[in-house]
Amino acid sequence: MTDLERKQDRAPVPSSWEYAPAPEARDLVQLRDRYGLFIGGDWIEPKETYETIDPSTEAPLAQVGQATPEEIDVAVKAARDAFENGWSTISPTERAKYLFRIARILQERSREFAVLESLNGGKPIRESRDVDLPLAAAHFFYYAGWADKLEYAFPNRKPRPLGVAGQIIPWNFPLLMLAWKIAPALAAGNTVVLKPAETTPLSALHFCDVLRQAELPPGVVNIVTGDGRAGAEIVKHPGVDKIAFTGSTDVGKAIQRELAGTGKRLTLELGGKAANVIFDDAALDQAVEGIVNGIYFNQGHVCCAGSRLLVQESIYEPVVEKLKRRLVTLRVGDPLDKNTDVGAINSRQQLDKIAELVAAGEEEGAEIYQPPCRLPEKGYWFVPTVFTNVAQSYRIAQEEIFGPVLSVLTFRTPDEAVEKANNTPYGLSAGVWTEKGSRILAMAQKLRAGVIWANTYNRFDPASPFGGYKESGFGREGGRHGLEPYLDFE
Ligand code: NAP
Ligand code: MG
Repeated sequence: MTDLERKQDRAPVPSSWEYAPAPEARDLVQLRDRYGLFIGGDWIEPKETYETIDPSTEAPLAQVGQATPEEIDVAVKAARDAFENGWSTISPTERAKYLFRIARILQERSREFAVLESLNGGKPIRESRDVDLPLAAAHFFYYAGWADKLEYAFPNRKPRPLGVAGQIIPWNFPLLMLAWKIAPALAAGNTVVLKPAETTPLSALHFCDVLRQAELPPGVVNIVTGDGRAGAEIVKHPGVDKIAFTGSTDVGKAIQRELAGTGKRLTLELGGKAANVIFDDAALDQAVEGIVNGIYFNQGHVCCAGSRLLVQESIYEPVVEKLKRRLVTLRVGDPLDKNTDVGAINSRQQLDKIAELVAAGEEEGAEIYQPPCRLPEKGYWFVPTVFTNVAQSYRIAQEEIFGPVLSVLTFRTPDEAVEKANNTPYGLSAGVWTEKGSRILAMAQKLRAGVIWANTYNRFDPASPFGGYKESGFGREGGRHGLEPYLDFE
């Protein structure tokens, strides 16, 4: 009996739905064989390159630059020139026009960018099409609206741009994180050197085409690619006035150490281990959808993922039963197929990290459930996984897995829920499911998390500030709050 047949025997419902393939057109996006570094409005031929791949097939997509310290220096100087020779002094209304243009072009070309995002990152096209792209465009629209209203946003404080912002982003939402970084920086009058993650450089490089189409002045946005070494060079470059970093807590701590005493401004958006708390009066079917969205969205590669499920003891059995039944219906596979719910893991390295933590969960004594699931042969894949019988001390309840793996814990009283939810070094997000409005407010007061969703999960809006407490970092992105890290005040 194969492993798959054995799992099928144990599955709570038959999984016999057959879907016809519904692939999005791969040729919507034209890739080059080789990309340079985008500096001063031009493509600079890089000294060193590496290959970027499609994680769902391991097929090569393009050669991209591994920026050297000298190349980073050229990029920072280009940003400084652009800042001093125009961008910081043009009228704010003009700045807004460029941001509006970028937003509109992203909307017009969103199908193309959605395909690219799924190709290079492994996320389902349904998500890049319906979440990443609309939100990225919305972010530019939102900050375009603030560009000429800074005096109203911060009355009597005389807001001024900082100068050159160095921005370093992760691989889980490549284009969306770029929008979160670039839109407020430009609205506030700064120029930018941005480094996308090593494994997902293509949408940022493709975005340079949008910048040219929008006729953004050369040097206002510079995109340099490469691994962590390139990021470290940006951080320590003396010509950079501010670092905005989204990524792991370890690298965030290293950056904070590096910048101590330099006077450079810093914001950090780091990891998370969010609690999604389900009370016994919650609408259970909706809650189960929220649990699934909370942890399997984007393969769980989400810093605010609801990776710790806290269920009130009296409803533990029906919730787990419904959840397992729902898991059987999740479709794992080709990211470009419109029926796909869970795509490819972003990299071999991330797959190994997930596998290691899942093995630790089994070893420590948690009970694992994985639905029957046929995974493609090539590429990086992980079956959506639920752990029950999890103790708070287990690694799978403490450490960020950043994969499609949920740990289920229980509680009896609201106080116990709060205590368990806050029992983490992180503090980025949380979810609360209950019919009682008063309980939502009481929980929101006590949970130490930057974002708290009530009877929903993973909802984003450019007008709403996002950011963490404790080891999840500091500073806010989104909303009026998101402008502040890019401004000086008198
Ligand atoms: P990461 O290794 O910290 O990488 C983030 C970015 O920093 C990448 O561009 C990376 O380049 C670069 N980098 C690596 N080492 C560096 C160094 N010493 N100095 C400067 N830059 C450096 O994190 P990741 O593995 O890509 O992303 C996953 C993590 O990001 C998770 O922990 C997740 O929670 C967190 N995250 C947080 C948020 C949030 O908003 N709070 C959002 C998304 C992700 P390479 O790509 O070459 O490593
Ligand atoms: Mg990394």
